[in-house]
Amino acid sequence: MKVPKYPYPGDADLRRLVRFSAEDGTIWLAEHRMLLLHAAALGSLRKELINSVGLEQARRVLTRMGFASGTRDAELAKKIRAGKPVMDAFLVGPQLHMLEGSVRVTPIKLDMDITAGKFYGELRWDNSWEAEAHVREFGPQSEPICWMLLGYASGYTTEFMSRFVLFKEVSCVACGAAHCTIVGKPVEEWPDAEEHTRYYEADSIVSRLLELRTEVDVLRSSLEQQYQIENLVGDSPAFRRTYDLVAKAAGTNVTVLLTGETGVGKERFARALHDLSARRDAPFVAVNCAALPEDLVESELFGVEKGAFTGAHASRAGKFERADGGTIFLDEIGDMPLPAQSKLLRVLQEGEIERLGDERTRRINVRVVAATNANLEAAVKTGRFRSDLFYRLNVYPIAVPPLRERAADLPTLATAMLKRFGTLHGKRFGGITDKAMKALASFSWPGNIRELENMIERGVILAPNDGWVELDHLSPCLGNGAEREASITESGHLREKMPADQSQLCDTILASGYSFETIESMLLEEAVQRAAGNLAGAARLLGLSRPQLSYRLKRNKNTSDNHEA
Ligand SMILES: [Zn+2]
Repeated sequence: MKVPKYPYPGDADLRRLVRFSAEDGTIWLAEHRMLLLHAAALGSLRKELINSVGLEQARRVLTRMGFASGTRDAELAKKIRAGKPVMDAFLVGPQLHMLEGSVRVTPIKLDMDITAGKFYGELRWDNSWEAEAHVREFGPQSEPICWMLLGYASGYTTEFMSRFVLFKEVSCVACGAAHCTIVGKPVEEWPDAEEHTRYYEADSIVSRLLELRTEVDVLRSSLEQQYQIENLVGDSPAFRRTYDLVAKAAGTNVTVLLTGETGVGKERFARALHDLSARRDAPFVAVNCAALPEDLVESELFGVEKGAFTGAHASRAGKFERADGGTIFLDEIGDMPLPAQSKLLRVLQEGEIERLGDERTRRINVRVVAATNANLEAAVKTGRFRSDLFYRLNVYPIAVPPLRERAADLPTLATAMLKRFGTLHGKRFGGITDKAMKALASFSWPGNIRELENMIERGVILAPNDGWVELDHLSPCLGNGAEREASITESGHLREKMPADQSQLCDTILASGYSFETIESMLLEEAVQRAAGNLAGAARLLGLSRPQLSYRLKRNKNTSDNHEA
């Protein structure tokens, strides 16, 4: 049996997208993580699925699974062959389907007009892995069974055409045909569409399971709500430990000292402490002690009476008074000047404040949460921080972990930020690609949550709407997370990937159309010129010995003489 050959465009652009990174245990198709798994294993999964949920449900699950991968590949197709003839771009689907090892695809008839929304496709399939696996387990069939492959074709074309294009398998090797044949048209053009579209819908059993699942999630999240206060997101052991300390402190009036590196989110924990406490309906007032000019610290914190100093034209309440009944958060407490420190000590000891230039003392009821990224004990030793204040503040210290110690939280954090910034900037995304997520996870995050936030926001701004946030949209300092990668060659063998600059150079050379000889001559001549005719110097530039250079110059000269003769 002879398989017809179809004039596909070259697929080097697609092969280049496949990267094997064995040392990392990852395989990539562009930015999406892929798997090289045993068809036999997938075959047994398929069998288990059919046996446990029945043919109908299994077909639905597999169709939808194929649909999902087709959709992903179509997103890639629009990008990788943008600017090429539309047919070339469309053929990315069949070519990827082959490259991914699913089936051999030969278009019989393809007719499409994206703007008019017209599509007709008839394609031949050989070597369907699905038919092979199915027949091995269940023997010959009376109905076509390449469900996942069919789902892929529908998903791919639907995404590509931006309208629901439904493919049907009209003949299948599982039913004894010589090869499988599929036909695709916009769903409205199939009179019996309903019989088929139900396999593309989230099915009743699955959706019922999902409903139950949602219920469980709701119940669980009400238990876990304590871990999800506003922007405080996390589930790692380090995060939970910190959170539990905060939650326990919330039930008391204890003064809390939050320590931790810059950007770890100390203010968020302080806010959570406030929200969890009985003071939640009273004000939460945050003050950055380092941001206040030294001569204004006291009046800002404790208030001022009219006439206390030149410029004090009116009496004014300070932050402490404004936080009465609630919580005051004193960030970067290590930068508080000494006079203000003694007043703070008095607030903590007596629960009283005195406005600047006022004789009266005022009773206030404020919980103090202080934070520092500096080593306060060291500041005490050098006399920059009062030791009595330090001991007052250090009653209940909580160390907020740096981001690198809660790596498990990274995907959740990044996804939550993506949602938040997406809303803020009016953009929607499929998500963060696997590759970008991997790079985020392997970064050390010296700037912690704040740095992550900045990077995600940058990604949100740079990524195309309705697309994915890719590695390139984040920061160049991330690296690609993979040291050594290999790609597949035309002959199907793995080849170590060359560094980007080398690969670019090769692209330029290959695209120039010059023969290898011409390129060699050009290089030799250029080196000789740059060395001002000095052959030893030119040889050094080229990494050759002088005799080697002379030999090559002579040989190339002879060939060009012969050509001219
Ligand atoms: Zn088939």
